[in-house]
This record gives sequence, structure tokens and C-alpha cells, in this order.
Amino acid sequence: MKKEDLKEVPCDGCPSLCCRNDCITLQPHEVNKFKSEQHYFQSNELMVAHKEDDGSCVYLTDEGCSVHHDKPAACAAFDCRLLARGVSFSRASSSPGLLAVWQKGKELLRQQKHGGSV
Ligand code: SF4
Ligand code: SF4
Repeated sequence: MKKEDLKEVPCDGCPSLCCRNDCITLQPHEVNKFKSEQHYFQSNELMVAHKEDDGSCVYLTDEGCSVHHDKPAACAAFDCRLLARGVSFSRASSSPGLLAVWQKGKELLRQQKHGGSV
């Protein structure tokens, strides 16, 4: 299955798992626009900064993403199904948050395979 075979990722009902403990990489032109920190496993990249208490993105609020209309490009393009296809289980297991997103992607892919609406 190719990327173009996937419809828009159905995020309804998901508690923004990819905004918690994820590793959204920032483009070079975005690093002065958003709070950033060293990427988990890309040593030469920066990612969106995370809160120290629960590891969620600093821009995640109870109402969702506080920079929704101007969020990082990687957030706008993110699809957990592609992560699930492109990252191995062992690599995803390096972080509980990353694993949760990977598992969500796998779940959506399974639903699609079995005729779901995704
Ligand atoms: S983890 Fe997947 S379903 Fe959940 S908000 Fe992120 S992209 Fe959407
Ligand atoms: S910037 Fe917004 S969409 Fe991106 S990880 Fe943070 S809360 Fe989620």
C-alpha cells in the first residue's frame, strides 16, 4: 500500500497521541519560531520542545494544539500509519510515547485492511 492509497488520517477520537512524547522534527526555518530541543534519535535535528512533567508537546493544551493554524510542517503532514509502516517495533519501543503512536498507526492500518473507512 502506498502513501497515496491512504485517505486523510482519521484523528477523531484519538487523544492527540502524536502530541505526547512524539518527536516532531523542525525544519531549519522553523527553529526560531517554535520552542525546540534536541531530537530523540536524530542527532543533527531539533524537535518541538516537550513539557517536563508529562512529556507532551509544549503547545498541547486541553483544547488541543495552541498553534494549530500555524503548526510545524511535520505536524501538518504527520500520519501515524506511515510511522507504523516505516519504523520497526524495536525502534518504536525505545519510547513509550512513540510506541503508543506506532500502535495507533497499526490499529488504523488494520482497520483499513479489513474494510474500515480509513
Ligand atoms: S496518533 Fe494518529 S490518529 Fe492520533 S492524532 Fe496523531 S495522527 Fe491522528
Ligand atoms: S505543535 Fe501542535 S500539532 Fe505539533 S506536536 Fe505540538 S500540539 Fe501537536
